[in-house]
Amino acid sequence: MELHNSGAEIYVPDGSPVDAALARTTHLAVSAHQDDIEIMAYHGILECFGRPDRGFTGVTVTNGSGSPRDGLYGKYTDVEMQVVRRKEQKKAAFVGDYSAHVFLDYSSGAIKDKANAQVVNDLKKIIAASKPQVIYTHNLADKHDTHVATALRIIHALRELPPDSRPQHLYGCEVWRSLDWLNDNDKVIFNVEAHENLAMSLVGVFDSQVCGGKRYDLATMGRRRANATYLASHGVDESTSLIFATDLTPLMNDGQFDAGEYIQGFIKRFAQEVSSRIAKLA
Ligand SMILES: [Zn+2]
Repeated sequence: MELHNSGAEIYVPDGSPVDAALARTTHLAVSAHQDDIEIMAYHGILECFGRPDRGFTGVTVTNGSGSPRDGLYGKYTDVEMQVVRRKEQKKAAFVGDYSAHVFLDYSSGAIKDKANAQVVNDLKKIIAASKPQVIYTHNLADKHDTHVATALRIIHALRELPPDSRPQHLYGCEVWRSLDWLNDNDKVIFNVEAHENLAMSLVGVFDSQVCGGKRYDLATMGRRRANATYLASHGVDESTSLIFATDLTPLMNDGQFDAGEYIQGFIKRFAQEVSSRIAKLA
């Protein structure tokens, strides 16, 4: 497959041919950075883990050049940092038994540039070759510009593909903002309590991000635990670990639906829920 950037790469942990690795994909995750997938799309990894009839493929759109660095990595140049981050993502792909991991190698600026057609073209090629049933990406209420831009590019790519090349579900997941605030009937709820050891390994291999005091590994596991415990105030917990998502499928299938308006619908329903409780009790 010809991808736009010369530094783009498709890594296949089990060494099988790239075309075959992409073709066996059933669950695809598209993230801005190395490590986002293991934080937000663990549900997809879990759905495919140890299942010969399923395959999980990750796509990271940026090259990781602007990554924060400290400690062991404090003196690393941008180029050295890109090498470290790609290596860490490959470790995760190996541990998680991914079918493939695609590195598109764009700068953050290129992803945020809405006029950049190359990113959308690369995404279209990957989706057409992998024909996943489910795609996970960032949610539109995330507070990181590159994350939201990534979600918008994947929606754009999917709208340009014929309907039979689109997945059945497109989900926007949690990284830089939890989705605990969504009304419960607006939440897509993924139970991810299985293989906790695997979940911890997947967020733990990104040493360059955790080193320096950002404990994404502990925070991610804690968020999942908090989601499970605080979902319902009555009764015992039905799961010890949940990931929340927004359903972006309607946006993918209706090219006229404005992304801003779509996420505002969730925010308005949340505002109404808060107001109606106050009105009832005040
Ligand atoms: Zn990120």
